[in-house]
Amino acid sequence: MKDASPGFVRKQFLVRGNLHGSRFAAAVFLLVRSLNLRGWLRPFSHGYEIQLEGDEGTLKAFENQFLSRFQQADYRFELVSINRINPKGDMSFRLRDAENRQSGGRWVLPDRGQCSECVAEMLNPDNRRFFYPYTFCADCGPRYSIARKGLLRRGDTSLGKYPLCEQCLSEVGNSRDRRFLHLVNTCPICGPSVELWDHCGVVKGRQRDALIQSAAVIEEGGVLAVKEISGFSLVSLATVNEPVRRIRALLDSAHQPIPCILHSVDAIDAFVLAGVKERDWLMQSSAPLLRIKKRNNASSLSGQIAPFGSHFDIGLPGSGILHLLMNLLHLPLAVISGVERRLPYACTEGEALQAFDGHVDSMLVSDLPILRTMPDSLVQRLGDQMQVLRHGKGIVPLEVKTGESEKEVIALGGKHLTSLGLSVEDRSFLLGPIGSLGQGNSLDFFFDNLNDSKALFDHRPQQLQADMDPQALTAQYALSTGNKSAAN
Ligand SMILES: [Zn+2]
Ligand SMILES: [Zn+2]
Repeated sequence: MKDASPGFVRKQFLVRGNLHGSRFAAAVFLLVRSLNLRGWLRPFSHGYEIQLEGDEGTLKAFENQFLSRFQQADYRFELVSINRINPKGDMSFRLRDAENRQSGGRWVLPDRGQCSECVAEMLNPDNRRFFYPYTFCADCGPRYSIARKGLLRRGDTSLGKYPLCEQCLSEVGNSRDRRFLHLVNTCPICGPSVELWDHCGVVKGRQRDALIQSAAVIEEGGVLAVKEISGFSLVSLATVNEPVRRIRALLDSAHQPIPCILHSVDAIDAFVLAGVKERDWLMQSSAPLLRIKKRNNASSLSGQIAPFGSHFDIGLPGSGILHLLMNLLHLPLAVISGVERRLPYACTEGEALQAFDGHVDSMLVSDLPILRTMPDSLVQRLGDQMQVLRHGKGIVPLEVKTGESEKEVIALGGKHLTSLGLSVEDRSFLLGPIGSLGQGNSLDFFFDNLNDSKALFDHRPQQLQADMDPQALTAQYALSTGNKSAAN
């Protein structure tokens, strides 16, 4: 390293927050470059360390612009400290690899539904990602659902086995591209692919052809199993009784509405009475389902969607596969996730063939492994407020700032919709529902979830919290461990 320029000072900025997988690093890079400062930016498990060198006035300008721009930009972070350190004479600004990867867990952001630019690319025949369901950018796409050991390296995610192709790599390296520094980047050349299987596992089509044939299965009144990044869904038309009746037979409660996915926010007016707030929520990047009062004359949906209740669960496509199926069909779809159905849990094609035997006509599968399953989030308007009824995809891991805790705690939810939460230092993270325990392979599934969460957050719980209900398997598990259990 060269000697420091005369008059230059160097400052270290420690930024703490759930920022990995966001545009944060790219935005810092652009700001630093616009000010012509030198130094580096390095991620650590809870945020970023930035070291910058330049004259005092320019460093102060960075600090002011950083605080004003980044706090407005909705990043959740704290500027923990600014320290003056000895100049080192960097000649440029660069990004450094993460150091100390194991310290205190890895914070990751929730998934996001695809942004309008990525959807437009998928639907543009002239784009190289035409009809490619894994089209994402730094503003959208999966985060938590693909994070094996965090999001700092592609090898830490379920995309690790798909090295970036030359074109994807050049997008990631281009500061003008919306995929700049975003490692969750894929395309038909280098990323995962989809196949349509019949109910015996025979391949019927690949890539775009698989999606076109899948839409035909649905259009003809069939039930399709779809392997999404965050779990298998069962999909059919929501307008025809027979497939919806087959899906309804797999639900625990006759009163539970079957979620309906519509092609646009304007399409909801035919079925429900939605206000401005509800419409805004539907279009959020978390892509939640909205529980909302039915219109009296919503007759084009099957009566089996919500035969007894007064509400529908309505949403917009939250994944590339659903966007593309919807583009082919333009009809409301009934879609249920793993926590909603009374079937063994399935994460692999083999498990799905067994679990769905006799219940589906075909399966749209993918070579991208499912790391953890998550249902869609569910929200409802209560008075003027939106109430989250189910913390799922797009919302979890939900970070809650608590007090500094001396012990690392895991909280295990109750019997019916078991969920996990854990504490790391002064934060708690709600990790979302696993589903009902006590049937089939659900206990294995629970332990997989527990171990996966402990590994991702590098969490060594010293205390378990569970419901007092002695019937609940989570309580039995908590009592059976050597950890002192605080039941509440
Ligand atoms: Zn995008
Ligand atoms: Zn590529």
